[in-house]
Amino acid sequence: MIFDFEMIDSFYKQLESRILEIRKKLNHPLTLSEKILFTHIYSRNHIKSFGRGIDYVDFLPDRVAMQDATAQMAILQFMMAGKETTAVPTSVHCDHLILAQSGAAADLKTAGVTNKEVYDFLSSVCNKYDIGFWKPGAGIIHQIVLENYAFPGGMMIGTDSHTPNAGGLGMIAIGVGGADAVDVLAGMGWELKFPKIIGIKLTGKLSGWSSAKDIILKISGLLTVKGGTGSIIEYFGEGAESLSCTGKATICNMGAETGATCSIFSFDKSMIEYLNATGRKDVADLARENEAHLKADSEVYADPARYYDQYIEINLSELEPYINGPFTPDLATPISKMKEEAAKNNWPIDVEVGLIGSCTNSSYEDISRAASVVKNALSQKLVARSEFTITPGSEQIRAITERDGFLELFRKIGGQVFANACGPCIGQWARKDANNKKVNTIIHSFNRNFAKRTDGNPNTYGFVASPEIVTAIVLSGKLTFNPLTDTLTNGDGIEVRLAEPEGLNLPPDGFGNIDSGYQKPVHGSDEKSIIIASGSDRLQMLSPFKEWDGKDFFNLPLLIKAKGKCTTDHISMAGFWLKYRGHLENISENYMIGALNYFNDQTNSILNQLTGSYDTVPHTARAYRESGSGSVVAGEENFGEGSSREHAAMEPRFLGVKVVLVKSFARIHETNLKKQGVLTLTFVNKDDYNKIKEDDKIDITGLSKFAPGSQITVTLAHSDGTKEKFLANHSYNESQIEWFNAGSALNIIRKSNKINGI
Ligand code: SF4
Repeated sequence: MIFDFEMIDSFYKQLESRILEIRKKLNHPLTLSEKILFTHIYSRNHIKSFGRGIDYVDFLPDRVAMQDATAQMAILQFMMAGKETTAVPTSVHCDHLILAQSGAAADLKTAGVTNKEVYDFLSSVCNKYDIGFWKPGAGIIHQIVLENYAFPGGMMIGTDSHTPNAGGLGMIAIGVGGADAVDVLAGMGWELKFPKIIGIKLTGKLSGWSSAKDIILKISGLLTVKGGTGSIIEYFGEGAESLSCTGKATICNMGAETGATCSIFSFDKSMIEYLNATGRKDVADLARENEAHLKADSEVYADPARYYDQYIEINLSELEPYINGPFTPDLATPISKMKEEAAKNNWPIDVEVGLIGSCTNSSYEDISRAASVVKNALSQKLVARSEFTITPGSEQIRAITERDGFLELFRKIGGQVFANACGPCIGQWARKDANNKKVNTIIHSFNRNFAKRTDGNPNTYGFVASPEIVTAIVLSGKLTFNPLTDTLTNGDGIEVRLAEPEGLNLPPDGFGNIDSGYQKPVHGSDEKSIIIASGSDRLQMLSPFKEWDGKDFFNLPLLIKAKGKCTTDHISMAGFWLKYRGHLENISENYMIGALNYFNDQTNSILNQLTGSYDTVPHTARAYRESGSGSVVAGEENFGEGSSREHAAMEPRFLGVKVVLVKSFARIHETNLKKQGVLTLTFVNKDDYNKIKEDDKIDITGLSKFAPGSQITVTLAHSDGTKEKFLANHSYNESQIEWFNAGSALNIIRKSNKINGI
């Protein structure tokens, strides 16, 4: 079955004429990224030469994918838009909430109980809004997207950082926050700063122990965790063409570790093979007919340094395996240097656990290569010296790797197969003794290895390598083992060397017909069919925020004047609070609890002007809201930097914060606040921040003349009876002012739906 074939067919039918139109308007050779971006511009009248890394542009992606943790609030918001279906094909994937503990079957059963209300809710809304629902155990979002939805030349967004995985099939696929997803689901343009483009030419060919993973491990070291920020990484060259489609996906997936917007490969025969193997021959045929438009122009390949903002060449024939870490994915060590680096840095070299799989590395190729290492080890009477776990990326992959005997080989050396889900990759790993916080080393083929990410223990040294290198290290038990040069002692006391891994890009017996865990939506069910368990503390229906009453704001008490850095983590903490992502009232209890109060240098302790005593930020905000006044939040530079978490903007609105006044905003957070109807202002004179006192009442006036470029007056009434007045700027454009007037961006869509009788 090919999902959404009509949409894909229609895309390819229009592709040539769109490319012609773009060529006419831009009049210069095009990179692949430009072709895809320009063919997905929201308003075709707006095609012009945009400043890369400068101009903000509205796009119209072809599809949206959401994982279960982020989908909850995105869908709750989308429900307020009053639409019958999502504006573009959409899917939801139950992968993040499954705890890896006792093995796939038992863990899935437990997840079905502990997460029942979330799954029931998501399943029911997917039915109502015609969204594809992938049940728990079906697999990890990015693997499912690659196997079923991605297509060359397409553009998608996903509410997860590793959405770029689909770049392995030539798609621009970008990880976003829930608020961005809501825009696309509701049919609005999705805004992105037009990316810079980094060109990477791959020459030569991989061999022996080196794999696609080592390419991105090396690139992570070259670019560092910031080097790709604001850029698309575009791969090409004969080395790129020699890689399998799933190998390409691994590289695109982990491009997120360089901060890149996404990564992409040009169309080639590996994509045709993968599409054919996964039952999408018709898509492969359409892509082949449009091949010229699914690559950069020949002028670009002839002189890449001229057309890319940054240009890098890597010779795959010279690439050796890498091990990256600990604690950061950009600390790249070639395997031949690991003994030296480990000794120099005092890294613990006894490896307790090796973990393979995840959305990054659980293709047939990955698993077959790792299994070949195990097969060779068993034939040489070797045993595993570390624990070993396997997390298949999808039921499809689990079923065929079981069928073809690979999982059984892993079990023979003590491997434990977890559910097809994120599990240890996102800290959903009930690792024995992790609470002891003892220093230890693990190695995995996932993408991120920040402290605490896998098991919550800050003393776990997490290293990243390819599945075959992880497997070799499991057999040796040592981080410093180099299978290219070192030997192992077998059960007979003989020194043996592991043979080079061998694998197949695709299963020779095909993917077979399996129950993939997909739930086809039964479109058209009514509101009542949406299941939210009564008394649920994890899910809560949202109510639209009230529209602006047209009046200036008077006498608003200061809620908190935040001192120094105030990121989205300070505003809406993660960790414990993640379980409340679908319950605005409950998660609002974390509002600003991490922010430092300017007046006492404490967190979550602020003056409640109503009682005269100190209280928590959420309680005080709630008290002001209930007294009918609302409140003001003040802050310093780059307020709201960090993630695009929409809760950080919904919570203040829910708690009655009317104005956030800061020295400067992180742009995404500012836009999120605007979308929720909170007035965002910046000091004209940044020193005015110093004038705000703890017990101030604040007037915000001039809103009747609210227009692009206008200024707003802020008046502080101090408790000693004096007043100070200053001006504040805003960055609202016409349509954003409409959001403010309507009470939120979604209110506008709901209203227009009502007007149109939807
Ligand atoms: S497996 Fe890891 S990287 Fe992939 S989606 Fe899950 S948490 Fe994210």
